[in-house]
Order: sequence, then C-alpha cells, then structure tokens
Amino acid sequence: MKGNAPKSTTSNRNVHILSCLQKVKRIGEGRFIALCPCHEDKHPSLAITFKPDGITLIHCFGCGASGLNVCKTLGIDPSVLFPPSDNHSYEKQAKHHFDAWHVLPALAFDAAVLLIAARRLNEGDKLPEADLEFLAEAVIRIQEAAYYARGKYGR
Ligand SMILES: [Zn+2]
Repeated sequence: MKGNAPKSTTSNRNVHILSCLQKVKRIGEGRFIALCPCHEDKHPSLAITFKPDGITLIHCFGCGASGLNVCKTLGIDPSVLFPPSDNHSYEKQAKHHFDAWHVLPALAFDAAVLLIAARRLNEGDKLPEADLEFLAEAVIRIQEAAYYARGKYGR
C-alpha cells in the first residue's frame, strides 16, 4: 500500500463507492460490509472487496445484488468497479497465477462452510456476525473464481 503514488485514482474510486453506502464497516484489508441499497437491508449484507489490481467486487448475500445492480441503484458509473484503463499493473496482475488447482480447494472449503451454516439455520440457530462476514467473503471468492473461469479478467 505504501509503494507507488499512482494508486490514488483507484482509492478515490473506492472512497466514492463507500461514501455512497450506509453503515459501512471495515472487516479486513480492502474488505467492507455495508447496507445493501438494492433491498430493504437492516443488517449490513453487502460485501465489498477492493482488490489490489483495482477491481472492486460487490455482492449482497441478502438479495444477491451484484456490483452492477448496486451501481445502478446508487446512480454511479459501473466503471468504478474496474481499474482505470491506464493502470498497467492491472494487466500484469490479471494474467499471473490463476490456477484452478489453487482455487478449487478453497471453493470446496467454502461450500462445506455454507452447508454447515445452512444446517445451523435449519435447526433454528442464528448465525453470529463473524460467520455472516465469512460467508460474504466466501460468496465473493466464488464469484471471483467464476469471473476468472470465464476468462473475464484473463486477457
Ligand atoms: Zn441486497
């Protein structure tokens, strides 16, 4: 984070996205949760991840809204979800080290966690906030893997 100055454009975009949302809470490096603007959200169910390559992943695990849905609802340009086109580090990072053999075990683990969560809910348990946050991150990881698999970030 401390290295190069050209990151400022990306962080301005990130600040812009967060400033449009309510009840924003930081849950980790580049990771936030907030109230989803696409549905009547009482507890933050929107997960936002700012990736180092300038891509922003947004997913609502309440209503399933994507980053594009959220931008549309907020009236902001969806281009904020992607790195500026002059960001050359994006291209370099997009091509390196995607490997299905690394991603699949992580997804398998996430799937197991989802099943455990579903069982607990089925038994009438309420999931702790930390579990919900983990599940939000799991959804983002799965979404991200799907993007990679479609080659969206690849070239
Ligand atoms: Zn939502």
